Amino acid sequence: MSRRVVVGFSGGVTAAWWAGWALRTYPREEVILLWHDTKEEHPDTYRFLREMAAALAMPITERSDGRSVTQLFHDEGMLGNGQNTMCSRILKAEQGSAFVSELIACGHDVIKVIGYSASEPGRVARMVGHCAREGIAARFPVIEEGVTKQQTADWCVAQGVQPSAMYCWAEHANCVGCVKGGKAYWLAVAKHHPDVFEQRAQLENDFGHSIIRGFHAGGSGVTLRQLVQIGLKRTVNQRESIEIGACDCGD
Ligand code: SF4
Repeated sequence: MSRRVVVGFSGGVTAAWWAGWALRTYPREEVILLWHDTKEEHPDTYRFLREMAAALAMPITERSDGRSVTQLFHDEGMLGNGQNTMCSRILKAEQGSAFVSELIACGHDVIKVIGYSASEPGRVARMVGHCAREGIAARFPVIEEGVTKQQTADWCVAQGVQPSAMYCWAEHANCVGCVKGGKAYWLAVAKHHPDVFEQRAQLENDFGHSIIRGFHAGGSGVTLRQLVQIGLKRTVNQRESIEIGACDCGD
């Protein structure tokens, strides 16, 4: 039985590093760099993906739903938020699971390379269980090797590829205007990508509820436009302001 090593190639620095790890650890012909396009990535993240794949001399295998995050919200009749990231589930996780199922159906043993860190024991335990149910093995190279995010970013630069410009203001190379973001994150979006902020604010109007987790229009919370008027009641440091959590298949 042949083997396939599936690497979630998201556009983040950690995902790029674990792609490099997979290529050092397994025969090149077994490694697959799997990518899902949400159609709302930062333009520079698409540049990073192309350049890093070229630096690794590997093709990108794309498995995408075909819809954008915004199109999905309209189809589902609901705006995603911190409590319901259906965009991550439908556009990424389900695409990845379908791809792995096809590999298994073709008779491959599958190893999934996952970039969770040691600070996420709950996510690691859930993923181990998920992989066991899918009948595949899981590797967690960030934990196994003990690398830091800074080290993975430095590794990308050493390959001659600058990380996505998303990292100038955000902790993760998620979609611009990620619906998982909290208040400080959205203030950063308003500052760095006002066009995206306005588009998300309009979606709040269209769907009649706020995008910020724990807040609901008409209740005690705020909408994005109200948030810009109010600001934050406390000072947040830069790391806190950009920490929104990685999307399920990325970093
Ligand atoms: S990065 Fe954010 S907006 Fe994009 S798919 Fe993931 S949860 Fe949704």
